[in-house]
Amino acid sequence: MSKLPNVGTTIFSVMSKLATEHDAINLSQGFPNFPVDSVLTSILEKNATGNFHQYAPMPGNSNLLFAISKLITQSYGRTVSENDELLITAGATQAIFTTIMALINSHDEVVILDPSYDCYEPSVILAGGKPVRISLGNDFLPDWNLINDAVNAKTKLIITNNPHNPSGRTWKESDMQQLEQLVEKHPQLLVLSDEVYEYITFENKHISAHSRSALIEKSIVVSSFGKTFHITGWKIGYITAPKHLLDEIKKVHQFNVFSVNSISQQCLADYLSVTDVATLGEFYQQKRDLFRDLMSTSNFNLLPCEGTYFQTADYSKISNQSDVDFCKQLTTDVGVATIPISVFNADQKDTKIIRFCFAKDEETLTKAAQLLCKI
Ligand code: PMP
Ligand code: GLN
Repeated sequence: MSKLPNVGTTIFSVMSKLATEHDAINLSQGFPNFPVDSVLTSILEKNATGNFHQYAPMPGNSNLLFAISKLITQSYGRTVSENDELLITAGATQAIFTTIMALINSHDEVVILDPSYDCYEPSVILAGGKPVRISLGNDFLPDWNLINDAVNAKTKLIITNNPHNPSGRTWKESDMQQLEQLVEKHPQLLVLSDEVYEYITFENKHISAHSRSALIEKSIVVSSFGKTFHITGWKIGYITAPKHLLDEIKKVHQFNVFSVNSISQQCLADYLSVTDVATLGEFYQQKRDLFRDLMSTSNFNLLPCEGTYFQTADYSKISNQSDVDFCKQLTTDVGVATIPISVFNADQKDTKIIRFCFAKDEETLTKAAQLLCKI
């Protein structure tokens, strides 16, 4: 019997495949199409002939762990122990899976906020936990009344994602305060804070769980170098968590991957000392503004985008098809692949909203917008 009877192939694989088959511009799966920083590729070339080809230590390369602890201090003013509170993972996906496997017991409830990134629920089910899916508001921000009602003595974890994929919304100070109150009210409750887009915010600065003293002892914060350094294919990220939680997570990690790709770790350790993540928001803000500008004469209604490299849009003026059908037709007939939002909702609730990825070069965004403005 299938352990995941309701799970098929992820929408990202489905849409990217369809885009390739129909030679469509791929604004579906989130990945950049521009070159990686040449400083990083030079480091990679140099390290290819170095002595970095055998197993890294289980929790991670010590240079990289040190560089990350410095980055967290610089970014958020938080001091973390590189030996006890950090773990290098094979991307955020493995970080999330391993955390849930380590911390969720049978029948523990886990609150997931919809639309939710697609790896959360299957991980909870595989751990024997009970996913409790709560809708975000129409504005894709948390509805704290619904969340407060859903949390009870059996709730072990709430998974938060800020900046939010797929909506591109970011949490406000009041949302962080509500989360703090929730955690204070329920002493058993932990927070899995998926912050993979932490450095991609625009007008408002990202508010991280790292910077909230009331959350630090309760939070497992997940980051991804894939997003921060345009290297989604390297599959490398990290977890920051208090020692007593990370010790449990490491027990699973050592039998899940044992350790992460050694060359990538050394390259990122070297790169972190010569690069500045603070410029990333501005870099993507220009892309967001360009794409929104190019789309301004289209029949799509562009929704607010405060962070991530995703722009959502309401297409109800163009079609009353389901969002899945609309995305397929947009790929096959118009030549632009996108992502339907309904697949991230427990009940497949369809609000006629789709997601564009704007982590693309100017030429690609311009060509895509030209096609999209014709419909
Ligand atoms: N969480 C969110 C919200 C994501 O968007 C992604 C990937 N795009 C991940 C986790 C997984 O990240 P990684 O590719 O590092 O596994
Ligand atoms: N997170 C990426 C997105 O939202 C896709 C990652 C994947 O393909 N698994 O598009």
